[in-house]
Amino acid sequence: MPVLYMNEFALIATYFKTLSERVLGARCDLGIGDDAALVTVPLGKQLAITADTLVSGVHFPADTVPFDIGYKALAVNLSDLAAMGARPAWFTLCLTLPQFSDPWLQGFCAGLETLMREIPVTLIGGDTTRGPLAITIQAMGLVDSGCALRRDGAKPGDDIFVSGCVGDAGVGLRLVTQNIAADKSILNTAQLRLNRPLPRNALGAALGAVASSCIDVSDGLLADLGHILNASGTGADIDVSAVPISPALLDPALVAPLNLVDGSPQGARRFALSAGDDYELCFTAHPDKRVQIMALAQQAGVSVTRFGTVTAQPGIFDLANGGVMLTPAGYSHF
Ligand code: ADP
Ligand code: MG
Repeated sequence: MPVLYMNEFALIATYFKTLSERVLGARCDLGIGDDAALVTVPLGKQLAITADTLVSGVHFPADTVPFDIGYKALAVNLSDLAAMGARPAWFTLCLTLPQFSDPWLQGFCAGLETLMREIPVTLIGGDTTRGPLAITIQAMGLVDSGCALRRDGAKPGDDIFVSGCVGDAGVGLRLVTQNIAADKSILNTAQLRLNRPLPRNALGAALGAVASSCIDVSDGLLADLGHILNASGTGADIDVSAVPISPALLDPALVAPLNLVDGSPQGARRFALSAGDDYELCFTAHPDKRVQIMALAQQAGVSVTRFGTVTAQPGIFDLANGGVMLTPAGYSHF
């Protein structure tokens, strides 16, 4: 028998308190049930804090399955912690729901739980209200004091790297918004990466000791690299053709139905460089660290590719293409 109604307190106890007891990440001193949670930050660590809101119809289509909403709301926050070189410890969940729905809450919690088991993190509190569907998660992580990976640390001469490949989530979004059937496994993979990105937390935590700056790719690789360069007062020479892009964008037969403005191989590559939501890490490091970085990436189980060099001159220039200046076209809410 499905449960048809529950008040706020029963809802929190049934879905969220049990979830927080089922999956344990970092220890907390006092969790769900009091006016505030209590945690202890170990000596020698700093607390990294981030929050992200997902609004129905803005950040995900209104018909997105609850599992994917729960999964992604947490994933985007853990990705921010990865980009700071912090290990996820705790999170809070503020949920605004149009009405009580047991199947919806079960699916949502299953999405959260799947990722919490993959990347251990403890749910320690939140808020539950009624209104248009929106989810805000605040995630907290621990990083050795003074060792966080900031955006402002890139120095001229540093190498520029990206993890994994970019463009999959952009392809996935095209498939969803244009209602194209993803019957090929390569397209299915792209769509899965849109809905269930796996944040690069093992890599991010390992890079703390070696990278000079880092950001997670949420707006598009060029736009996010631009954020590092602006914060660091630097520019970059990059080799656009070296950037690993979504396998779906390398196959002309698959590119055609996606209706890219320019469906040529160069156009597909440009699309990958400005498509967001991949949650890869873009980071810089002194060239002395190359061997170490490749070893750390291998340990973390993710590929990393070097595709450029930080320069003193502002702007991003494509060396493989006669040195033309690239303008990042990322996403902005306003
Ligand atoms: P208050 O009125 O003091 O803000 P609430 O009734 O909002 O308390 O919350 C009761 C407890 O349940 C608090 O510990 C709060 O952190 C927790 N909580 C509320 N909503 C959620 C949620 N969506 N996920 C996790 N914990 C929650
Ligand atoms: Mg409250």
